[in-house]
Amino acid sequence: MANEVVLLMGPPGAGKGTQAARLSRSRNLKQLSTGDILRSNVAEGTDLGRKARGFMDAGELVPDDLIIGMVRSELSDLQDVRVLFDGYPRNPAQASQLDELLNDLGAGLTAAIALEVDEDEVVRRLLQRSDEQGRSDDNEQTIRHRLNVYAEQTQPLLEYYETAGKLKRVDGGLSVDAVEEQISRVLS
Ligand code: AMP
Repeated sequence: MANEVVLLMGPPGAGKGTQAARLSRSRNLKQLSTGDILRSNVAEGTDLGRKARGFMDAGELVPDDLIIGMVRSELSDLQDVRVLFDGYPRNPAQASQLDELLNDLGAGLTAAIALEVDEDEVVRRLLQRSDEQGRSDDNEQTIRHRLNVYAEQTQPLLEYYETAGKLKRVDGGLSVDAVEEQISRVLS
């Protein structure tokens, strides 16, 4: 079985979605963005979408049991585990659930890539995205809150993956092409 599992981490606005789309093509990985899956559930008005919506609009994390259920069901019909997670895991509980899931699937983690971008730059990018895409959580107040949630709940995971010898830090402040090149280099 050809297993490859890559995590793309970083604050909101770091470019995870953009890089994940490119990387999934260049390395033939299935991109799993928990944010995108949640947004389509909200748009379709599914049960999951109805439960998740309030948390998303407030810039809070959606409860872990909903997230792991969603991830498991996305992975259940895959033959080979070749996955690129974008925006998952987001807290220590999700990281240990992911470890268990990979263990169940007989899969290991290739790398956790952290896109590092300073705060002023991510706020600038997110406000620009709000003009372009009209995402309901891309207003300045919610952006600031999402950055706090990232700093408090998600950033500690970088240490977790560093200790596991999986963390690769990439300068996410560079151009889209330059970031992609750096990521490809650390993965090869
Ligand atoms: P994102 O598109 O990754 O910025 O996610 C947008 C929103 O979806 C977040 O602010 C959370 O409310 C929710 N979300 C996405 N991924 C997760 C996750 N792994 N755990 C909890 N909430 C998530």
